[in-house]
Amino acid sequence: VTAYEGRRVGVLGLGRSGLATCAALKAGGAEVCAWDDSPEGRAKAEAAGFVPVDLTKQGAVEGLAALITSPGIPHLYPAPHPVIAACLTAGVPVDNDISLFFQSLAGMDEPPKVVCVTGSNGKSTTTALIAHLLAEAGRDVRMAGNIGTGVLSIDLPGEAGVVVLELSSYQTDLARRLAPDVAVFTNLSPDHLDRHGGMGGYFAAKRRLFTEGAPARAVIGVDEAEGRYLAMQLAEGAEDLRVVRVSSGQKLQGPGWSVFARKGFLAEWRGGRQVASIDLRPITGLPGAHNHQNACAAYAAVRALGLAPRQIEAGLASFQGLPHRSQLIGERNGVRFVNDSKATNVDSAAKALQAFPKIRWIAGGLGKEGGIAGLVPFLGSVSKAYMIGHSARDFALQLGTTPHEICETMERAVARAADEAEPGEVVLLAPAAASFDQYPNFEKRGEHFAALVQDLLGA
Ligand code: ADP
Repeated sequence: VTAYEGRRVGVLGLGRSGLATCAALKAGGAEVCAWDDSPEGRAKAEAAGFVPVDLTKQGAVEGLAALITSPGIPHLYPAPHPVIAACLTAGVPVDNDISLFFQSLAGMDEPPKVVCVTGSNGKSTTTALIAHLLAEAGRDVRMAGNIGTGVLSIDLPGEAGVVVLELSSYQTDLARRLAPDVAVFTNLSPDHLDRHGGMGGYFAAKRRLFTEGAPARAVIGVDEAEGRYLAMQLAEGAEDLRVVRVSSGQKLQGPGWSVFARKGFLAEWRGGRQVASIDLRPITGLPGAHNHQNACAAYAAVRALGLAPRQIEAGLASFQGLPHRSQLIGERNGVRFVNDSKATNVDSAAKALQAFPKIRWIAGGLGKEGGIAGLVPFLGSVSKAYMIGHSARDFALQLGTTPHEICETMERAVARAADEAEPGEVVLLAPAAASFDQYPNFEKRGEHFAALVQDLLGA
């Protein structure tokens, strides 16, 4: 990243992506002023050779060419972080690593193609699936962004290569430069509203990827009004093939380009005619209607990059799914154990509850606003709920007539659910809550569930 050669740049937030940013800026000849509010973050920077500069001090941001900040740091709501607030006052541009990445590509003769995936749910699955389909078709692929690898720490792919980026709403909101070749919008449901000043701000943050990013191809999930609105705004007219509309459930057979799943089959339509169809039912790595939505979005994205339907079909069949998303851990006496620890909000938990017919449901943790009120319509498949964590009692109050038990701990919930489950049922961890009351993150929660299940299966 040479955009700041010879200039001072602040880096706020020294996690994985922040450290990668420091290294990339330094390599490009910038003077890096790195800061993190936590001593651990600063220690990591020091270990990497960056002496921390206290950007919270009065006047410390004066003269910075830019401040590059991490997605976890509030940049506007509920209130900007003090360092960001100081930059806004001093007129210092606030930006992020995603933007630096696009700036660095702008100077290249033959940059790789970039696919960006945003939306409320299914981002990681869709991102991983796109990367998998491209790799299976022999393309050189890198995956980065919100999925775990800082975009400035990847080696760029070779000829005809593709970079697939998962972008959160914070990342799309902050990036001053966005220039994807293909951009994907999976779906929209309330999440992180405190950080975006409500639903309008949240949608606006994601919409920037399409309006500022101006992708050559936009793949838009149209199962909510926001997606339909966005597709309408981007398309010149009904026949415009730059917008690919995607749905799980709706028949999209209009004059444009669409990919939709119904009754377990994916169909691609163009100009009012079906051009391809794939049976998704045998694909074990993508269970449930929500994963069929992800399959359609990924299909559309790689079609836009030139893959053929038969190539994609083969790639879908070999996709294993991601850990902690509808992940089958094992089976005992006809009872399956499924880890969906990533179901941290109501919408993703609702999808999990609809993916299986009879469920012993393990839920709870650090609940979000409204608790599980939004899940009441989906409790028909739940034979009993086993409540854990901080929200156990609050969630139990919202269950109505659904049988339940307060278990507090994962150990007890798994033991009780396994004990009571009948053949044909699924013991499902889909917490509808964050994990931070009992675990450092959702991965650790899912790993704990999986370990307990493995113990049971081994016994
Ligand atoms: P994200 O990266 O957007 O959080 P993930 O692929 O990690 O998305 O999935 C997050 C959660 O949402 C998981 O519980 C998963 O089972 C569920 N999920 C996956 N795809 C979808 C979808 N298309 N719609 C709703 N929920 C989904």
